[in-house]
Amino acid sequence: MPKDVYTLADLRDWPTAAGQENPPIRLSVMGDPVAHSRSPEMHNPALKAAGISAAYARLHILADELPEALRLLSERNFIGTNITIPHKAAAMALMDEVDPQARRGGGVNTVVVEGQKLIGFSTDGPGLVRAIRADFGVDLRDLRVLILGAGGGAGRAIAVQCAVEGCDRLVLVNRTLERAQALAAELAPSFRETRVTGPLMRLEAVPWEDAALARQLPFVDLIINATPLGMSSVPAYAARNVSPISVSLFRPHHMVYDTVYTASQTPLLAAARETGARTANGLSMLLCQGALSFEIWFGRPAPVDVMRAGLGAGS
Ligand code: NAP
Repeated sequence: MPKDVYTLADLRDWPTAAGQENPPIRLSVMGDPVAHSRSPEMHNPALKAAGISAAYARLHILADELPEALRLLSERNFIGTNITIPHKAAAMALMDEVDPQARRGGGVNTVVVEGQKLIGFSTDGPGLVRAIRADFGVDLRDLRVLILGAGGGAGRAIAVQCAVEGCDRLVLVNRTLERAQALAAELAPSFRETRVTGPLMRLEAVPWEDAALARQLPFVDLIINATPLGMSSVPAYAARNVSPISVSLFRPHHMVYDTVYTASQTPLLAAARETGARTANGLSMLLCQGALSFEIWFGRPAPVDVMRAGLGAGS
């Protein structure tokens, strides 16, 4: 029986830890924490449906273990791996080649093992575009977007995607404001063109405070949580069982997307729903970014319906 979670010690002694597995484990998701990851639930049925003799497993890898874990992949005959919280930026520095979109986004969530070489990609931004279209029936490029956590891997990838799409407005919010400000400075050239968007600037980095949010939220359509707050399976984040945005600040016109997918009802989504805002959790983004990873690994369309069924998500 495959383990729920493997470790670096297992990867070092792979023949003992996983040598008996059939099909062999040749894909993974590396993260810390990682036990919550639902990626195996969509990728293993997809591999089976596509007739590919490979399995997908979780690898719990600490920050200081990442270089060795990535180096071991080619020796262990891996096809590739996904990278999740908190290693996306660190992984990029460990790649032999990085796709331009991932480079711009500052992080890698999909790795291809090609001989001895590691090639990094990011499917988070394009996955989010597909998810927003599926959940809300609108295109990201037509929206005024506010990102909570615009300093981490997912927040940054989403912000870069907003710049690529040419969103009407982008508001960057982060616990460590300096990281959001640095990102805003980087993205400024994409938001120079003047548009009629209301009294506020097209691109702003603002502190995570009620007063700043109260000023911004009337001029925003889509609010995206790209922090781990609300991850019910991780006590450190679930314990803060309050919405990261006060309920009084939401408006009925808002669409609220929580990239967290371990709970269908995070405190953020519950608060937004109270005001009549439309909401969706991160399951659709997980599915769409996973389908794009599959396409990168295998160069063919992913069996999306099988993956969706694996996640137990509606069509
Ligand atoms: P990360 O690189 O570690 O970034 C974490 C971000 O959250 C940073 O902006 C950080 O702010 C902020 N943060 C962390 N703890 C916080 C707290 N207690 N209060 C306020 N802000 C806090 O992680 P990541 O890889 O971007 O992942 C973030 C979340 O996105 C995770 O929940 C992950 O599951 C989710 N995600 C979902 C999908 C999907 O497909 N649905 C894809 C990618 C990511 P500082 O800069 O101040 O540290």
